[in-house]
Amino acid sequence: MSGNTTPFTARKSDQPRKLAELRKASNQWQEADDVFSRLSRRMTTSLSLEALVAIFADELAQVIPYDHLMYRNTIGSQEFVYASGMGGQHRCDFRLTLEGTNYGGLTLTRRSRFSEEELEGVERLLAVAICPIRNACQYTTVQQTAHTDALTNIPNKRALDSALAQGCCLSDRHGDDYTLILCDLDNFKKVNDTHGHVVGDYILQAVAQELAKATRNSDSIYRFGGEEFAIILPHTAETEALQVADRIREFINRISVNCGDTNVSTTASAGVAMRQKGETPLEWIARTDDALYRAKDQGRNCTRVADFITNRA
Ligand code: GH3
Ligand code: MG
Ligand code: MG
Repeated sequence: MSGNTTPFTARKSDQPRKLAELRKASNQWQEADDVFSRLSRRMTTSLSLEALVAIFADELAQVIPYDHLMYRNTIGSQEFVYASGMGGQHRCDFRLTLEGTNYGGLTLTRRSRFSEEELEGVERLLAVAICPIRNACQYTTVQQTAHTDALTNIPNKRALDSALAQGCCLSDRHGDDYTLILCDLDNFKKVNDTHGHVVGDYILQAVAQELAKATRNSDSIYRFGGEEFAIILPHTAETEALQVADRIREFINRISVNCGDTNVSTTASAGVAMRQKGETPLEWIARTDDALYRAKDQGRNCTRVADFITNRA
């Protein structure tokens, strides 16, 4: 750390007094029960946007009653909406802006009109909340970036790992069928070697788009590795997932990139495995990967279903 602070030794005789002041101020801040101090304290306790807006809504209601509060923000591809209460024909809107950047909008509605004093009160409390809300928005952006593949803009392997762990928990708890598809482009190295990485990258982006078209909204798609994609299908048994895998491969086969005198296309192989009870994410992936390996081994451009393991240790 660097800065223009005066060396501490120069004012050493002041230290006991300053430490006493610090202790007093800190105690006062911790114990103060006015809305301003409470809000400042509580807003430092989380980086979750939802938790912070809930704290703000709670503290605001202590001084400025409202019937409905809504906070909205779009962060990357994610639409964030927090709403509490309902009703009221009188409305006031606040735009949360800090250093020229927008951090969402707050709307309050109520059956009776808001007074000028109340509006000023909301602004005063927003002034306390804006920095923590900015931090939470930025944290959400960082989290999104860490879970998104930069080339295809779909969730990456890290996101897949959390989704598989969650899928395992849900399928154990509720006994639902969850099926995983691994889909790998065939002889993709040759595409790169023949037509260059730019064409290869373009095809990978097109594949991500086709995956989204070939699956349902409840399914989730991931870039698992270089030219390998994963799809989790909740509430889906193997037979249905097999059809989805074949549909995905058909969609991929239809991709055609015009490279001057030739059109480049690709095929894909897929492995399908419905999760077995008690299976860990790693075991589930390994079984799906075995099925994919068989698809490759048996000529590529086809789908194979994983074996069911009867004697799991
Ligand atoms: P197979 O049918 O056995 O899967 O053969 P393959 O050539 O697809 O598999 P291999 O593992 O030999 O090569 C994968 C290729 O995928 C090599 C690599 O250049 C390419 N690849 C991986 N990531 C990217 C990427 O981000 N962009 C491009 N353009 N190519 C990539
Ligand atoms: Mg491949
Ligand atoms: Mg591969």
